[in-house]
Amino acid sequence: MDGSEMHYLILGIGSTEESPGAIGLPDQVPFPGAHFEVCADMGNGVSFSDNHPSVLGQFTEMTDSVVVNGMMPNLTLRYTEALTSDALRKHHELDLYTKFWPGVEAPDFLYLCSGTAETCPVTPQDVADGKPHQCDGLLAQIDASSPVLWLACTSITGTSYGDLLTELIPQFMSHLPLEDRGRLSQVDKRHRAVVENAPGNSPAGKIRVPREKRADVGLRTIYTQSELDASLKESSVLHFQPGGGSKAEPLTVTAFHKASPVHLFAWTDAQPLAAVEGGILTAHEGTVITTMKSGSVTLQKGATLMRMVGGDVQIEGGFIAKVSGGKATVRTDGSVGEVDVIGEVVLPAGEITVLRGGVASAAGNARIITVSGGRADLLGSASIGTVAGGRVDAVGAAVVENVTGGKVYAEGGVRVDNVTGGKVYVKGQASVTASGAAYVRVSEQATVHAYGTATVHGQGGTVHVHGTDVTLTGRVDSEVRHPA
Ligand SMILES: [Zn+2]
Repeated sequence: MDGSEMHYLILGIGSTEESPGAIGLPDQVPFPGAHFEVCADMGNGVSFSDNHPSVLGQFTEMTDSVVVNGMMPNLTLRYTEALTSDALRKHHELDLYTKFWPGVEAPDFLYLCSGTAETCPVTPQDVADGKPHQCDGLLAQIDASSPVLWLACTSITGTSYGDLLTELIPQFMSHLPLEDRGRLSQVDKRHRAVVENAPGNSPAGKIRVPREKRADVGLRTIYTQSELDASLKESSVLHFQPGGGSKAEPLTVTAFHKASPVHLFAWTDAQPLAAVEGGILTAHEGTVITTMKSGSVTLQKGATLMRMVGGDVQIEGGFIAKVSGGKATVRTDGSVGEVDVIGEVVLPAGEITVLRGGVASAAGNARIITVSGGRADLLGSASIGTVAGGRVDAVGAAVVENVTGGKVYAEGGVRVDNVTGGKVYVKGQASVTASGAAYVRVSEQATVHAYGTATVHGQGGTVHVHGTDVTLTGRVDSEVRHPA
């Protein structure tokens, strides 16, 4: 064919189910001209393969029988899976045609015309007058003067070496060591598809698909420390997962590496990364790091660090089970199970389950469920479920729901709801409700509601005394007695 001119080949499954008129489209359209050829497979189905001599030879031209008095049926073609097969699309007979196939380049259920007399020619005279289609149909979407082959099939089936390989690849790859599967996945997108779409679970662990399906990312499964060390010295960015099985060694990311950050993934048969002792690493969804000692890690959504004893972690939706050192910062969202000894957690959002030691700075809408030791600073609208020990400094609009022990210093507009033990120091506009063995010291404009056997020492503020067993010492600006 002449390369300077578009030759259209429109291929799909011919639909005979319903007349276009039933869904408001024209049943007939004026024949667009001699450049438009209608062909059909005469009910035989069309097959293709790499070594089949002809696809086009399986069609019979029907133009003369469908065009009557310059009018023809408003033909329609619909999608079938074979239309995306490379073996069909690149078949030597079809390769150079311009394709406008339903469900691929064109809308599924492609009609010749989808317009009305307002938008489109409806008589042969309209066509002779040069009236164009202005609808969503084929005749409006292509260069109307170019040759068009309209090929209606009853079915399209085929195979090619490529398709056969695709079927064999999963079996073939299942016999390979994981490391080789990972490497093969870099070679060919069909190999990659097998790795990425591996079924549900494997004996070695939960299978996940890497979130970044970038074609240029080489996903590697690494089994030995020596290979990991060698990989970290390469100049390309490393995307890897620790492999499993009897030959796998526990892996540690150690020194700073040439190309940072290193990306930790979990796609198939992933094992935990044993340790991070340096370097910069991004842990993606589904990954697990057992211990972090130093270096810098970003924990993305669905990534887990079991124990942190040093270094710096940015939590972007991930989870740290236990912080015993180093500094963790919640950047977007995420959570920390337990903080002890000397860990530090900064959270503008997210949650800590238990603070046993160390320091937590909670702001925004962050929440600490229990404080039993260490020190928590609350800002913004952050909240604590229960303080049983340690020290809390709360300002802003923070809320402490229960205090059974420890010390709470509250100012600003902080609310301390239910104090039954421990010591609470309130000033500013803060308010506290105390009972039981609670000790409260109140000053400035703060307010205390005291019940039961609570003890309140006043240096100003307002105290509401409920009942007769409350102990009130010092001086308050306002004392309000309520009946028991
Ligand atoms: Zn039209």
